[in-house]
Amino acid sequence: MFKKILIANRGEIALRIIRACREMGIETVAVHSTADTTSMAVRLADESVCIGPPQGKDSYLNIPAILSAAALTGADAIHPGYGFLSENAQFARMVEEHGFAFIGPTPEHIEKMGDKVTAKQTVKELGLPVVPGSDGGVNTAEEGHKIASDMGFPVIIKAASGGGGKGMQVVREEGEFIESFTRARQEAKANFGDDTVYIEKFLGNPRHIEIQVFGDTHGNAIHLGERDCSIQRRHQKLVEEGPSPVLSAKLRDEIGELAAETIRRMGYRGAGTIEFLYEDEKFYFMEMNTRIQVEHPVTEMITGIDLIAEQIRIAAGEELSIKTPPRFRGHAIEIRINAEDPDTFIPSPGKISQFHAPGGLGVRFDSAIYSGYSIPPYYDSMIGKLIVHGRNREECIRRLRRAIRETIVDGVKTTLPLHDWILQQDAFVSGDYTIHWLEQVLAEKQKA
Ligand code: ADP
Repeated sequence: MFKKILIANRGEIALRIIRACREMGIETVAVHSTADTTSMAVRLADESVCIGPPQGKDSYLNIPAILSAAALTGADAIHPGYGFLSENAQFARMVEEHGFAFIGPTPEHIEKMGDKVTAKQTVKELGLPVVPGSDGGVNTAEEGHKIASDMGFPVIIKAASGGGGKGMQVVREEGEFIESFTRARQEAKANFGDDTVYIEKFLGNPRHIEIQVFGDTHGNAIHLGERDCSIQRRHQKLVEEGPSPVLSAKLRDEIGELAAETIRRMGYRGAGTIEFLYEDEKFYFMEMNTRIQVEHPVTEMITGIDLIAEQIRIAAGEELSIKTPPRFRGHAIEIRINAEDPDTFIPSPGKISQFHAPGGLGVRFDSAIYSGYSIPPYYDSMIGKLIVHGRNREECIRRLRRAIRETIVDGVKTTLPLHDWILQQDAFVSGDYTIHWLEQVLAEKQKA
């Protein structure tokens, strides 16, 4: 097993990784920017190294600085967390070439799944159902126009290298196609340095259901059930839950086994998430994330398995701790707490004057904030995640509302009031909502 792990990340996920390491008896190194010298990760890690100025590109994306820090501190493995360098195949390759273990999949698998066009082709060949659309990248507006017209509108144009909900254009009518296509290519080039785009049928009423998978280097692969992430705004997740309120045990077993078989045949190592749209009891593959995800605690709460510890063990060459899917216990919901105005979604960095964490049975608060902490303006606005477990969905919702009321974050604006509002909506309570629901009701709320 590793003796020392360097964490190439910040915020709550850095803390989450420190927690797993400490329970496993592994020392930790926190790397940080000059804006994060007072962070909780720096305070709680065994060692810390400053790797550069505030901007992500100068620090958390600064590969030479991170590798130097690993060498300097004698770390034997690097955990990339999510975001930043977590899905950068070049980074994974350099980590391994410098003699450190990368806690994640092989660079080849990251590359293959990172290009959404290649990913779609790969999993289709391995037997997963995909969203109908272009066969690979589309080079000209004329070609795209023909594909879209044959398929029927609406369609969605996506960047092959896109991520984080960015680089997508929905085209509702034929007349808008050429202009949207040109814009999609320009935006793809500007944001991701690659203007390859592809076209998919735009599904009108889907849910976002994703399957957590794990593979080891001994040929074992399993699924750990699903997370339903249909509560979204601008293609970004705000609330995640498991099990999905709409999935039967039979369909779960089927899609879960299909997902596990896919990574088994790939020879995939580590944690991964296979994301699907789900409509009329059918699954359509969207993409695979080759890293741990923000919403992984939902799965931990209903399985009792520490997913970060599992990642570390697999990277150290051990076998998966379980070989068949576990029994799923009760229900879990996670809300993402962002330092943003709950109505306008404008970021609200600054100093947290008072903070009180929620507690009690079934309540988990994953965050790196504290009273007196200053949220720097340079990074993502998510400052914490509140995850609640209950024996069933109803109990879970009641517990979550209770826990939200206990959470005190003074000094900055947060999305907590928005979450409290969502939890009271009939559509949410009944479980009857799609990925478009939140934006629709927010638009109505604005008008009122
Ligand atoms: P990203 O990598 O940026 O997260 P995804 O391909 O995972 O991009 O899509 C993000 C979100 O966009 C989905 O959760 C869904 O809300 C929406 N979306 C993507 N593809 C489609 C589609 N074909 N039809 C309808 N909505 C879609």
